[in-house]
Formats: sequence, structure tokens, C-alpha cells
Amino acid sequence: MFEKFIEVNRDSANRARQWKQKTGKKVIGVMPEYFPSEVITALGAYPVHFKGTQIPISRADTYLQSFSCTTTRTILEQAMQGDMDYVDGFVFTTMCDNQQNLAEVFKKLFPEKPVVTFMIPFANDASVRQPHLKEQLDKAIAGISRITGTGFTQDAFQTARALYERRAALINRLYDVRRRNPKAVSAYGFYSILKADAVVPAEEFTALLEPVVSALENKDVLPVEHRIIISGITPEPLELAKVFDEIDLSIVDDDLTSGMRQFSRGVLSGIDGAGIDRFVFGGSPCSTLFNPAQDRRAYLADKAARDKAAVVLWQIKFCEPEAFDRPDLIAFLKQRGIPVTSFEVELQMNSFEGIKTRLQAFKEIL
Ligand code: SF4
Repeated sequence: MFEKFIEVNRDSANRARQWKQKTGKKVIGVMPEYFPSEVITALGAYPVHFKGTQIPISRADTYLQSFSCTTTRTILEQAMQGDMDYVDGFVFTTMCDNQQNLAEVFKKLFPEKPVVTFMIPFANDASVRQPHLKEQLDKAIAGISRITGTGFTQDAFQTARALYERRAALINRLYDVRRRNPKAVSAYGFYSILKADAVVPAEEFTALLEPVVSALENKDVLPVEHRIIISGITPEPLELAKVFDEIDLSIVDDDLTSGMRQFSRGVLSGIDGAGIDRFVFGGSPCSTLFNPAQDRRAYLADKAARDKAAVVLWQIKFCEPEAFDRPDLIAFLKQRGIPVTSFEVELQMNSFEGIKTRLQAFKEIL
């Protein structure tokens, strides 16, 4: 059932090259996270998201410190190994220091590929943020237009919005199925689908996913013993998801920047200040956003209590935003009586025995 998505992920660069050739569209590489793909689609381009991958690092360390997270180091490695040759330009956000550094390295190493930067403000007052975000979005639209040669029109934007609304509705159905019947979908299958979403054009992704979701909705509900919520940035390396399946820890929901946080904020409603502010700050709390109006600890504790689940913090080594949140988060969850554990990974690792042992021990106490 998930094979098509797994296949896409195995060979995503070649797939993207084929889609580019088939559609004749420019490709915009989107660096994680918080830039609306619907704008890129409305400007006639095909967005491909890079979130890091399980690639051995041989060249990227020449330009990035070894204490940069492996999301950024593996993204740079992909680019240096020619895996992004089909990309015509990039959009970076300022979600963390590592991403900001990476944007500068890309400008230096790949001067022929324009870099558009979307700055996310540090301000807790929406009325202060909105004009800044609107200005940033306008600049980004102008920058992407220069790459695609297509101007922004409301008609094209509304068409793109409708497409992304359909995609989001389907993914939300997928999350609902898993909450209701976690055994219906393996952790590896579920996150293979989300990973493929980053590279498959939204229209084709929706067509691929629709029959899968319908089939999952019709599966018999099976009993679940150990219910887990994973929290962090991204579930990479994806192979690690198989460990949860192997030891029967059922992931019922997540709190991931590239997972539920992304879908909780909805599709961009308009290119006005309020619309883009809602898109960036309107979802569930994220370690990479400055938003004192939200309490991630209470959010996660309430979610775990509602789902009757324990929490596993899936952390990427040297990810500062998550590392700063972690001690407080763990203490708060423990205080509320919610079982919690954490582990750190590097994206290029391929042996998970240590983490498996740790998760098995955690399972014993549930
Ligand atoms: S893993 Fe953390 S530090 Fe690395 S790019 Fe993502 S948010 Fe930034």
C-alpha cells in the first residue's frame, strides 16, 4: 500500500528531474520550514522540499562546522553531490541559525541559483509582525517571479489554494485514521507518505494518497497496547521509524515541524499580513518560532493526555531550538505524570540498536 511512496523516496532526485521534464516547470527548492508552497505553485513553479536525508557526509563539512545539525549538513551534501542540479532557485527561511548559515553557503557555492530569503520576525505582537511578514512575502514573490518569469495573479493563487486545501484535507484524514486505528498504518508507512509529499507535485500526491486513505479508513480497528506521540523537528532518518513498528510502540500522533505542526496551521488564506501571520504562527507551538502566546509544554501534555499516550522526543543532534526546549518539556511532562523519553540522532546514521534498546526499556515502564 505504501510502496509507491517508498519508491519515490528511494529515488527522489531522479523523480523530481522526470517531473520537471514532464511539466516543463521551473523547480524551487524549499528549505525547511514555514514558506507557503501554494505561492510557488501559483507562480507556475514546482516546489521541492529539502528536509535532510540519510546521505553519508564527505564534502559538506568543508563549509559547515561539525556541530551544525545533520539536517543542514546533509542538505548541503546533497547539493554538493549534484542531487539538486535540477533546482532553479531556492527559498530559505530564518527558522534557525543553521538554516541562515546554510543560505549564505548556498549563495557562495551556487551563485547561478538565486536564493530567496523569507525572514520570520521575533515579535510577540501580531500587529507588529504582520507588516513585516507581508513585506517579506512580497519580496519572496518578486524573487520567485524573477526565476519563473511568471507574475502573481489572484486567479492562479486561488487555484493553488484549492489544490493545497485538498491535499491538507487528505493528510488530516490520514492523521485521523491513525489516531482512531493506529494499527492500520505502520510508522514507516505513515512517514514515507509524508516524506514523499515533500517531492511529489501536490496534484499527483493527492491522486496517489486518496485511495490509500480510503482503504485505511475501511480497515478493522485493532487493539493497541502502547500509544506514543513523537515530538521534534522531522522523523529522520526514516529507517528508524521501523524500530517503533518492530517493538510494537504504536505512534498515534506527532508534534513534528515537518508533521502535524505543518498541517495544524492550514493553507495560506491570502497574501495579506494577517494571512501570512496566521500561516506562520497559527499552528501548534514550535521550538523554532518565538511565540510566547503559546506554551508547547501544556500543548504537548494536553495532547498526550487526550490520546492516552506517552511521549518520545525524537531529537536531531545539534538542533539548538529543540535542545533549548527539551529539559523544560521533559520536566513538565513528568510533573503531569506523562511517561517521556528522548533520544538524539544524526541523519546519516544507519545503526539503531542503541535506540532500539532504549525504546524497549521505555516500553517496559509503560
Ligand atoms: S534540525 Fe533544528 S537546527 Fe537543524 S535546520 Fe532543523 S530546526 Fe534548524
